[in-house]
Amino acid sequence: MLSPADREIRLGIWKIHILHHAEAREVWGTWLLEELAEHGHALSPGTLYPALGRMERNGWLRRAGSAPHARARQTFRITPAGKRLLKELRREVTELYEEVVLYAENEPKGGRP
Ligand SMILES: [Zn+2]
Repeated sequence: MLSPADREIRLGIWKIHILHHAEAREVWGTWLLEELAEHGHALSPGTLYPALGRMERNGWLRRAGSAPHARARQTFRITPAGKRLLKELRREVTELYEEVVLYAENEPKGGRP
């Protein structure tokens, strides 16, 4: 189980994953839990579902429907506002990656001037 501090720092990363996948396809809770687990993020339904609700209230996701077989399959898609946000986040993640990963690999001892 993740500590509240672990959750706090990773919530943003999980939400970027969710936006990314909700742009490509309809997503739902159990699918997202499995997808995030593949990346090593073992979050609980008690963390994911409230996060999905907040993302919907923020206008980034909309409920798309429910698959006929399982009642848990409330599905979500990205909204136009979510797409705009994701576009900005892609640029910010790229910049973060370049600084935090690439720069750190090339200049392990130094800080950025
Ligand atoms: Zn993902």
